[in-house]
Amino acid sequence: MTADIIDGKAFAATVRARVGRQVSALKASNGLTPGLAVVLVGEDPASQVYVRNKGTSTSEAGMKSEEIRLDATTTQAEVLSVVARLNADPSIHGILVQLPLPAQVDEMAVLDAIDPAKDVDGFHVINTGRQAVGLPAMVPCTPLGCIMMLKDKLGDLSGFNAVVVGRSNIVGKPMASLLLTENCTVTIAHSRTKDLPGVCRGADILIAAVGRPEMIRGDWIKSGATVIDVGINRIVKDDGKTKLVGDVCFEEAKEVAGAITPVPGGVGPMTIACLLANTVTAACRQAGIEEPDV
Ligand code: NDP
Repeated sequence: MTADIIDGKAFAATVRARVGRQVSALKASNGLTPGLAVVLVGEDPASQVYVRNKGTSTSEAGMKSEEIRLDATTTQAEVLSVVARLNADPSIHGILVQLPLPAQVDEMAVLDAIDPAKDVDGFHVINTGRQAVGLPAMVPCTPLGCIMMLKDKLGDLSGFNAVVVGRSNIVGKPMASLLLTENCTVTIAHSRTKDLPGVCRGADILIAAVGRPEMIRGDWIKSGATVIDVGINRIVKDDGKTKLVGDVCFEEAKEVAGAITPVPGGVGPMTIACLLANTVTAACRQAGIEEPDV
């Protein structure tokens, strides 16, 4: 079997186009321009690229984009004061603080300070809790993108055996919670899991969010399974050049799986598209209006 390749880049383009139409409709009928603020503390090169991409995508969708860059020595009090200013700014509907933060800044304290209504990353405990009990919530962008791709590929997810490898607060746990909401039978695996290959082999839907290059091998995958590879790992090839690979050994997995996301071009593009979609959702909820169905 050769797996269908799930084209996250193309799917993300359709999500971004829809967001663009929604923004136009909101401007025309409600005079509302959704606004997203991204806060970057320090000079982490990967974070700088992410923040730049987020800013460009936000502007391209017709939204207001504000980038706040603070130097690496910024204190926690200064970060909190920026968050407080953004919480109070009615032209900003979404706030994202780029992680990781420098050691002197307590990540949980900063995430906790973001107004849950503007928490477009969905990391605030209020949103985590609301999502877990089935109330409207801001949902973390990466798991949301994965669910959208799965539903697009498989339709109703009820009854599927889903295995999520990884239990981080930003990917693994919210991913498992969303799959449960979709009525999957969910197993969460992690570094203490016994017989990880055997656990993975039981999966109709396998989500890899580990951060270990190509750890999940072809013979860990059930024939016909749908594999979503969240991992982004930069490795050095034999010729000294670098390349991005996922947590799944793509070459092996594509011979066994029914469908698989590539790295790059799978989950990654969907994450930014979902951030834009979440910002529209947040703006509409704050204005007390329905999201335009365009
Ligand atoms: P974390 O490092 O926070 O979590 C990794 C998880 O994998 C942990 O739960 C850990 O278990 C588990 N793990 C580590 N080693 C093993 C092992 N040998 N066997 C089984 N489980 C293991 O990572 P993140 O969740 O933040 O990210 C995961 C990956 O996803 C990374 O490659 C990251 O770059 C990528 N990512 C991609 C995004 C995108 O937009 N595409 C967005 C966010 C992340 P334990 O808890 O027991 O330590």
